[in-house]
Amino acid sequence: MDRKNAWSSYSDTDKQALEAISARYIDYISRAKTERECVKVAIELAEAKGYVNMKDVIAAGGTAKPGDRLYMDCMGKSLMLFIVGEESLEKGFNILGAHVDSPRIDVKQNPLYEDSDFAYLDTHYYGGIKKYQWVTLPLAIHGVVVKKDGTMVDVCIGEDDNDPVFSITDLLIHLAGDQMGKSARDVISGEQLDLMVGSIPLTEDDKSSVKDNVMKIMTEKYGFEEEDFLSAELEIVPAGKAREMGFDRSMIFGYGHDDRVCAYAQLEAMFAIEGVPAKTCSCILADKEEIGSVGATGMRAKYFENAVAELMALKGEYSELAMRRSLANCKMLSCDVSAGFDPAFGGQFERKNTAFLGKGVCYNKFTGSGGKSGSNDANPEFIAQLRKIMDDNNIHWQTAELGRVEAGGGGTIAYICALYGMEVIDSGVAVLNMHAPWEIISKADLFEACKAYKAFVLEA
Ligand code: MN
Ligand code: MN
Repeated sequence: MDRKNAWSSYSDTDKQALEAISARYIDYISRAKTERECVKVAIELAEAKGYVNMKDVIAAGGTAKPGDRLYMDCMGKSLMLFIVGEESLEKGFNILGAHVDSPRIDVKQNPLYEDSDFAYLDTHYYGGIKKYQWVTLPLAIHGVVVKKDGTMVDVCIGEDDNDPVFSITDLLIHLAGDQMGKSARDVISGEQLDLMVGSIPLTEDDKSSVKDNVMKIMTEKYGFEEEDFLSAELEIVPAGKAREMGFDRSMIFGYGHDDRVCAYAQLEAMFAIEGVPAKTCSCILADKEEIGSVGATGMRAKYFENAVAELMALKGEYSELAMRRSLANCKMLSCDVSAGFDPAFGGQFERKNTAFLGKGVCYNKFTGSGGKSGSNDANPEFIAQLRKIMDDNNIHWQTAELGRVEAGGGGTIAYICALYGMEVIDSGVAVLNMHAPWEIISKADLFEACKAYKAFVLEA
């Protein structure tokens, strides 16, 4: 039952392909640090591969035929890709689904204030984070500001070498006697996570002078007023590019591997498919997984079902019953990261059922917590089929649970798609430092995930 380390099996050709994918992935996550940016860059890549906007096809009264490559976004924050197969859509799709939102710190709606000649943006964190990890780091602001007239201003400050960065301060160790005795949850409170953004006063006397000066710069540079924060979506993320890690460059150190590594592997898999597949292949990049898949762009919304209905209509196959059959006949990999074994914290893992970095794509029959609460428990019939596909294609793969029983837990989008009656299992890349500002993966696992996802959509 031991799984082999993938690195020892690679030929020179394999290593070349692995390095090429890794370089493309590093570029993707360095450019795409919000769900909107992930969708935008994914659309750029898809269009370059011949994908056409399904909304345009619908508006033009067009049709869809086998071999067509289509995409449809949901509010610019979720995205679906389709390659129309030979078989009727009622036979179901093979689906890859990942999420492109990552833990971060969001700017509040009334954020700007000053204290003691420092200007700050007040924040509210998004997703499960260890708050103490987000202080004393160079941070960037990404997002959009929508003005009253509907114009959208894109914001990205802190990524260019010539940009300033921002930061959240921490108390000096010399005065931290009380703080050091607190539990890690309370070392930094949620309201302490405010971003320092300036310190020069605009005039000598004005009480809000530093704040006014910051606002003046924002108005000059970005053309928006303080009230425009009310309709802004600004996300604070670690500043800087993803990097290779280790003397042997075997790993990637980057922000947002959860879950952009799986999202990106899905894109690579879709783009590697040539010609016309038998079954329709699709991939979903969903938003809001980190806060429970809620809202119109989260997986609990109906955009995938709606897109399936639209595609069936374009192909002249739509009826309510045909669509229900189609959804129930789908097979899906819910592609989300898994907890990689970390020897420094070995006690939280059960080694026989743990994902190891470098041992390939990981399958989780269930996630959840306690007695599998909140989990999608995949069927063994489906897992048996996956074993065959993986082994036939010489893919390195492993099975895992998320840590020791009762050590904690986590969720994915698997259980939501399972509601349609489709076969679903969690599958992903093992990550160290999950949900920290900088996470770690193995290039080998990214490479194996790309191969596994392609084999799955073509053969399941
Ligand atoms: Mn995830
Ligand atoms: Mn997560």
